[in-house]
Amino acid sequence: MSSDRRFTGPIDLHTHSRVSDGTESPAELVRAAAAAGLGTVALTDHDSTAGWGEASAAAESAGITLIPGMELSTRIGWSSVHLLAYLFDPADADLLDATARIREARLLRAEQMVERISRDYDVTWDDVLAQTEPGATVGRPHIADALVARGLAPDRSAAFAGILHWRAGYYQPHDAPEPLEAVRLVVAAGGVPVIAHPATRSRADMQLEPVIGQLVDAGLFGLEIDHRENTPEGRVRLQHLASRYGLALTGSSDYHGAGKPNRLGENTTSPEVLDALITRATGSNPVYPPS
Ligand code: AMP
Ligand code: FE
Ligand code: FE
Ligand code: ZN
Repeated sequence: MSSDRRFTGPIDLHTHSRVSDGTESPAELVRAAAAAGLGTVALTDHDSTAGWGEASAAAESAGITLIPGMELSTRIGWSSVHLLAYLFDPADADLLDATARIREARLLRAEQMVERISRDYDVTWDDVLAQTEPGATVGRPHIADALVARGLAPDRSAAFAGILHWRAGYYQPHDAPEPLEAVRLVVAAGGVPVIAHPATRSRADMQLEPVIGQLVDAGLFGLEIDHRENTPEGRVRLQHLASRYGLALTGSSDYHGAGKPNRLGENTTSPEVLDALITRATGSNPVYPPS
């Protein structure tokens, strides 16, 4: 679907609501994005599109452009790789099936982690449920919130640096498709895939380079280069990969409301890249403010 739109205002293509591990409802998030002066915001909850409807309605009244999206969990071995997906068909059966499975695997894994943590700390699965919106994609941030509520950590970041860190011995990965399968699913659903924060310090990032050619052949659109967790050396590598494979480069906040220090619009994407992204998409449309 091509677009001759001119985008006004900063563009932030990666945010989370309470549909996954953000702390605001989709409508609150969209209003916060408009209040922060953004012209365009993408809602990219983990493995769920459940916030699209509420976010779309809020975008229309707040006068901001909404790009419906999702951050798909994938894995290489047991290392986690996140794939941003934009403007796909939210009713695509194969993608729905894959996300339902990922959410199931996340739930099982969270229960198992909490079972192990509860042997050493006074925290229960009910504590985690009390921190989780019904139907939300469960992740370590919800366990972190339960630990905070129990006084076992001062905030999410401290919980991640302590009990939830793999070094503490309770960490467990969850099952998820490989990146290539995820890219194929997104493209088949008319969506546009971009690898999220590909150059953080974790090991998965190193494992991405050998498969990037295959991902490009399958329709990968871009790499999220401007993200606070990408290392400076990693960004140089991403620049090289982008020129070599003709990939677009995006920037975004990965806002989680009060759950992370990341602020809306702290990193942004150029209007040219957004325009190319929209032109590539065939699965669904951006929600433009009434003109
Ligand atoms: P999970 O996918 O369940 O392993 O949890 C990873 C999620 O936790 C990521 O999507 C981040 O949004 C969030 N996260 C990672 N590190 C931190 C941190 N230090 N503070 C708050 N949230 C974090
Ligand atoms: Fe998250
Ligand atoms: Fe992520
Ligand atoms: Zn994210």
